[in-house]
Amino acid sequence: MEQEKTLLHQRDMAQLLYGNSYPGLFISTLASWVLAFGFAPQAMALSKAHWGYLMLGLLGLRLLLSHYWRGRLKLEPACAPCAIRHFAIGLLLTALMWCFFCLYYYPGASQPQLTSSIIVMAALAGGGANVLSGHKGLALSYAFILLCPYSLLLMRSPLPHEHLLGSIGLFFCGILMYTAKQSADFTANAIALKHQHERLLGELEEKVAHRTREIYLLSNRDPLTGLLNRGAFLESLRALLQWHNVRQAPLAVLFVDLDGFKKINDTLGHDLGDLALQEVAKRLREQADGAQLGRWGGDEFILAIPYVSLPALEQFVTRLIGRLKDPSLTQGHSLKLGATVGTALFPEHGVTAQGLIQLADMAMYEQKRQARGRLGLFNDVLAEQIRREHRLRSRLEEAAVRQELLLNYQPLIAARSEQVAGVEALLRWQLDGEEIPPDVFIPLAEQSGQIRHLGHWVLQQACDFAQRRLPQTLSLSVNVSVVQLQEESFMERLSHILANSRLAPARLHLEITESLLASDPALLPRTLNQLHNLGVRVCIDDFGTGYSSLSMMQHLAVDLVKIDRSFIGNLESSGRVIIRAVMQMADSLGYQVVAEGVESSAQAQALKDLGVHYLQGFYYAQPLTEPCLLALLQAQTPEPLDAPLA
Ligand code: C2E
Ligand code: MG
Ligand code: MG
Repeated sequence: MEQEKTLLHQRDMAQLLYGNSYPGLFISTLASWVLAFGFAPQAMALSKAHWGYLMLGLLGLRLLLSHYWRGRLKLEPACAPCAIRHFAIGLLLTALMWCFFCLYYYPGASQPQLTSSIIVMAALAGGGANVLSGHKGLALSYAFILLCPYSLLLMRSPLPHEHLLGSIGLFFCGILMYTAKQSADFTANAIALKHQHERLLGELEEKVAHRTREIYLLSNRDPLTGLLNRGAFLESLRALLQWHNVRQAPLAVLFVDLDGFKKINDTLGHDLGDLALQEVAKRLREQADGAQLGRWGGDEFILAIPYVSLPALEQFVTRLIGRLKDPSLTQGHSLKLGATVGTALFPEHGVTAQGLIQLADMAMYEQKRQARGRLGLFNDVLAEQIRREHRLRSRLEEAAVRQELLLNYQPLIAARSEQVAGVEALLRWQLDGEEIPPDVFIPLAEQSGQIRHLGHWVLQQACDFAQRRLPQTLSLSVNVSVVQLQEESFMERLSHILANSRLAPARLHLEITESLLASDPALLPRTLNQLHNLGVRVCIDDFGTGYSSLSMMQHLAVDLVKIDRSFIGNLESSGRVIIRAVMQMADSLGYQVVAEGVESSAQAQALKDLGVHYLQGFYYAQPLTEPCLLALLQAQTPEPLDAPLA
């Protein structure tokens, strides 16, 4: 560091010395020409001419050296000491030549020659004091050699005017040496200050660069794995696509979703989960060296690699999945993960970054449904599915206005009396003569948010119909989705509907699927409270398929639990055990149990034997249109859903 500082200082000195050398050399050339050849024929003229040629030769050589070093110093600062040495030798030789001239030719010199030579020496020394300020030693020596010996010689002369010239010369020499020292000190100081500023500027730049790097990392990198985050990956994929587009080169976008990560997170904790994700990121980096790599979120990673052929891609993904499957030993636990990969190709399947990622995600999702741990390539079936979903979403917008929506009602049967105790409203959509199942359009409406209007329409229609056309003893079950419940104004809208339809709130049973517990665990207790305040009842639908556990039900004030139909179809094996457990819990917590999907008399009998309170299913009735339901009801006497059980 110190060495580098000295070198930089010397480079500046050398540049200063050589930078000022041309005018100095020019003046010296002129002066030596005048003194050697400029006076009328005189004693030792020949010898002076020799001196003159020698001096001109020396100055010429110095001119060449100046030219050479000026160029080289710019490129190689390290050669500054050598350049200074050359300069010093040239300058001191010049000074000695001048000194020699003055002393040697003094004896035969005329008065004008003496006077002019001391003036020339003083002028040269004066110029040197400034021009040589880059090097104190040289500046002082130059003035000293030029003036001091000659002045002393003149002072020793008995002739008064020569004595006077010598005294003035010596005095001038002293002054010039003092000025040269001051000037050199000042220059050295300026150079040191310049370097200090440069260093400070350098440090500042370094700090700014460091901070910029930090900001880049914060905004572009995923802090856990160090991979590109979502935004940065999208950005870099866009740039990559442009590049591939120009070169007409195909690209594969790979969506990697880990299998079994949730289990690690849930059973071993988030710290180990984080370590597992870091290990996955490390392995992906190793395997996909040179590929664009990012973390999409959670346990999802994303890659973009050049596409050569399908077999090559399959080989790559198989190797990748194989490596991810290798167990890793972390904090004494052997962590085992797997991965399913979905791929979409540019330009075959899509041309935009966002679009390709979506398609790769879909392909992964589809592959996960079929068989985990493999590669799923985006295909025509999925493309058709996307087109269909797009069409459905856009047509759903106007479905209510175009009167394509219809409510069917499926009766709920009281187990003891086998009489209708209530009905469940089920939404139907007739699109251009085709019936679209709710399992298809409800999730689409949930994704797009259209479910809010749709759900509102269902509640309005169903409450109106129940109040106007159904016996007051019958309950009305309406399915509501999580998206509806998350809406701030839901409770307010519901109370409006109840007020307008004048339906008794206790007759309305809102069916909420268990998935609500997983998607927004804090929402359910709050919602239950608000619904109870309105007097409305709450039923947990599809019980057993989601995330809630029996123990969780203890803390939730629900009124009914509807056991999912998968358990009813499974009565001979595990279904019976589950239902028995639900019944025991129901007994102690005081809620009623509905079994849905009852398709046979055997199932109905088994469920009655188990003590289930209400039954619903094709065995009793399909979902019916309003007139069909009314016809069915006329044939029997209904029993209220909340009738006391024997
Ligand atoms: P869910 O609420 O569990 O409704 C019961 C589903 O099971 C209905 O299907 C019904 O037709 C069917 N089902 C009834 N008995 C049987 C049986 O014995 N065997 C079989 N295999 N199936 C039976 P659907 O009408 O297709 O409705 C499917 C789902 O769509 C509903 O499941 C519900 O989650 C949702 N859904 C329907 N209407 C609405 C609505 O207005 N709003 C919301 N948010 N979701 C709705
Ligand atoms: Mg339901
Ligand atoms: Mg259900």
